Parts: sequence; structure tokens; C-alpha cells
Amino acid sequence: MPIGNIKTIGVVGAGQLGRMLALAGYRLGLKFLFLDKSADAPGGQIGDIILGEFSDPAKVGELASKVDLLTYDVENVPVEALAQIPAGKPFLPPQAALAAGQDRLAEKTLFNELKIPTTKFRAIQTMAELEEAIHAIGYPAVLKTRRLGYDGRGQRVIRSPAELGSSFNALSGVPLILEEFIPFEREVSLIGVRNLKGETAFYPLAENHHRDGILRLSVAPYPDKKLQAQAQKHMQKLLEKFDYAGVLTIEFFVRKGKLIANETAPRVHNSGHWTIEGAVTGQFENHMRAILGLPLGETWAIGYSAMINFIGSMPTREEVLAIPGAHYHDYGKEPRPGRKLGHATLVCKTRKELLKRLKNFPGLAT
Ligand code: AMP
Repeated sequence: MPIGNIKTIGVVGAGQLGRMLALAGYRLGLKFLFLDKSADAPGGQIGDIILGEFSDPAKVGELASKVDLLTYDVENVPVEALAQIPAGKPFLPPQAALAAGQDRLAEKTLFNELKIPTTKFRAIQTMAELEEAIHAIGYPAVLKTRRLGYDGRGQRVIRSPAELGSSFNALSGVPLILEEFIPFEREVSLIGVRNLKGETAFYPLAENHHRDGILRLSVAPYPDKKLQAQAQKHMQKLLEKFDYAGVLTIEFFVRKGKLIANETAPRVHNSGHWTIEGAVTGQFENHMRAILGLPLGETWAIGYSAMINFIGSMPTREEVLAIPGAHYHDYGKEPRPGRKLGHATLVCKTRKELLKRLKNFPGLAT
């Protein structure tokens, strides 16, 4: 279908990512229809939702029949659920990238094939395999479920032989992976984008701070030319491997000045929210441009940015907007402990000013 005829985008999942995709896409003259199991999902406040599970092929098929192009805001859409998308209806980023990102073992194996460094890892099904693997990898190590793990869920750090059995019992029953624990100096992520014509663009690296496995704070750009070049080289390989279209994220550990890939997400990412106000073109707009085959927008940073996640509770608009350079994003969700409810982005002219204004920033300590 010619680009000019694409009017309606279907989004599988109506979370905050879908909502922010739509907010960027409306400016380009697009309309949005979501598929989500909950009527009050963040996307539903700004577009129509087809109610249903994103694992239901009939529902995904129904969404596909009503739109010109499909994308997704959740990475756990089972590939089997895409069976009823009519031939010729684009689903982007490509299914193969979605599938690879769903299984930590497949993902790390692919990284290694492409010579992208990872932690040492072993597939685990049984206690005997875990005992053998821990012997090879050593303590501490991280035991994770291969699928459906995010924000630190489905993982245990094993620090001593005494913790082996309890960690296995807590997670067993599904395929697992044991990883070497990396005493990293920092965590960074690269957000990149490739359009249907094969053109690519990369944002500056963001430095990410997690607590309890959940992202709390991203600061960008992380100013290291060598790491930036290394990260882009790694991502370029993945983008080409999948003939990718859309935004792609890789999260890395930095250890002794080198990057170790932890995981990818075939979608816009929480650590890229700063780009909405902190870069010339935000990740959400660039995702829409990429999957439509439009020219990509420039990705350089306007000054220095920080993104503060609001987890479990939100500071007020007044408190946040009293800080010069701050922007407020409320996803319209009911507060619940551990739930991402919104974020703020702080954009400053200098890094020094940014760090000063970040001190006591509302919501940062919670
Ligand atoms: P993940 O679900 O793999 O993104 O892990 C969530 C967070 O747990 C990461 O951002 C790290 O802070 C930490 N983590 C995960 N895997 C490891 C590892 N192998 N070594 C050290 N820390 C880890």
C-alpha cells in the first residue's frame, strides 16, 4: 500500500507505550486502534480498544482487518497469535525479531552468533543441570525464567550453595537460564531505528539506574564515544539480521570499559522516553516514521536529559512543573505498588545543571 494511503495503525497492547506511539502518530495524521484486555488501559483514553487477549489469534485477526498496518507495544505477543493476520498486511517490527526477544536463551545464542558479547549462560531444566552449570559459571549467578521475565520478575541471584535449591524451587516448572552475575560499573541502553528503506539512526546512549529490577532513572547522553560506536556496531548487526523496521533497544552492562549485552526489546523502550523532549525527534515518532517507510528524524540530544519514572505513586503536576526544564507525563493509570504510572523528563543546557536540578526531584526517591 502506498505510504500516503496508510491511515489507521493497529497496536497490539494499549499500555503507556502504545499511548505514546499514538500521541506521536496523531501529529502525522494517523488514526489508532488498540487490542487490549482492559478497557481502561492507557491507550484506551485516547483511542478505541478492541477488548481481548493479545494471545487470541481471532482478536489479532479482527484488529488486522480494521487497520492498514500493525505494530505492538508489548513484547510477549505469542507468534502463534499472529496466524490470522491476512497475507500482505504489514506487521512491524518483524515477527522474527519479536520471537527472538521472547526467549532469553535464543536471544543470547543469537548475540553470540553475531559476535555480540554476553554473560556466560547455560540452559537449565533440572536441578542436576543447575548443579552442573553453577560449577562452570561460579557464584554469584542469576537464575532466570527464559520467557515472560521483565522488570526483574522471574529471576533470583544465587550467592551460595545454600541458595541453590530454594532458587530452583521458586522458578522451576518452566525452562530456565543460568547467567554469570556481572558486577557491572553501569548499565546503558541504545535505542536505534531502521526504516523500510534500510536507513538507520541511533540515539545517544542512556545510563540507566534500576531498583528492585525496575528502571527508576535514565540520564542521557552517556558521553563515551567508544562505547557509543561499539553499541551501534552491535545493533546494526541485529537490524540487518532481521531486515528490521521500527525502533529496537539493546540493554548493556558496562564492565571494564566494555559492553556486555543483557537483552533486546523489539520496540520503543522506557529508557528512551527522554527522547520525546530531549532529542530532535522522539523514539515514538521515529518508530512511526520507520514502519511507514518515511525518512527518519534526527536523533541528536538537545542538551542533557534525565527521565524519572513514577512507580506506585505520582507527584503532582504542580510539584514537577515548578522545576525549570521539567515535563510531566501521566499515563492515566490507577496507582498500585510497583506500577509504572508516569514519568518526567528534565532537559537542561549543561550536565552540571541537570545533576543539580535532579537532587530532590519529586518522585525520584520513591
Ligand atoms: P533483566 O530482566 O534481564 O533486564 O534484569 C533486570 C535487572 O537485573 C538488570 O537491569 C540488572 O540490573 C539486573 N541483572 C540482570 N541480569 C544480571 C546479571 N547477569 N548480572 C548482574 N545483574 C543482572
